[in-house]
Amino acid sequence: MINLILFGPPGSGKGTQAARLVEKYELLHISTGDLFRYHMKNDTLLGQKAKQYTEKGELVPDSITIGMLRDKVEENPDVNGYIFDGFPRTVNQAEALDKLLGSKGTSISALTELRVSDEEITTRLLLRGKDSGRADDQDVEIIKNRIKVYKEDTIPVALHYAQIDKAFIVDGIGSIDEVFDRLCQRIESVKATIE
Ligand code: AMP
Repeated sequence: MINLILFGPPGSGKGTQAARLVEKYELLHISTGDLFRYHMKNDTLLGQKAKQYTEKGELVPDSITIGMLRDKVEENPDVNGYIFDGFPRTVNQAEALDKLLGSKGTSISALTELRVSDEEITTRLLLRGKDSGRADDQDVEIIKNRIKVYKEDTIPVALHYAQIDKAFIVDGIGSIDEVFDRLCQRIESVKATIE
């Protein structure tokens, strides 16, 4: 089983790359951002709770996020592995994920961080906002807040996995194909160590 965390700031290309990686490696893609958007669109109770945070670019509380993630993993036990996209975003979430995978006799194989500058992600997000209609991609102040939250709360997640030599930086600048090739190279070397 190979379990990957696709890590990086908002707009670093995680969703785009995850879509290609799941095809190549036949893994289950779990994006907590997509799950929240699904719940908000369908106006579920969870969606109503999440909305007040997502619309400000704040993190949804761990108690809500971890429960939602756990349900998604539990619903899909028979997979070759998972690609976690946009999760974990706090050390508390990372510890909960480690525990959950541990209870299934598995663990995180690698965290791959797509590294992209703040200027580049701001440009990309504003561009994406025009097409996607996502409110949190259209407002520079919300984007700034998401970058701040990433630096303060989420970067420590990479350090958590760096301590056990499982965190890798991948240059996120370049064409989709170039970045994909870099990620695949990294994943192949991780696979070689666990097979
Ligand atoms: P994303 O599409 O991954 O950028 O997520 C959009 C928004 O959903 C974020 O700005 C947060 O408000 C919320 N969100 C997504 N994943 C998480 C998470 N792991 N923890 C807390 N909030 C999250």
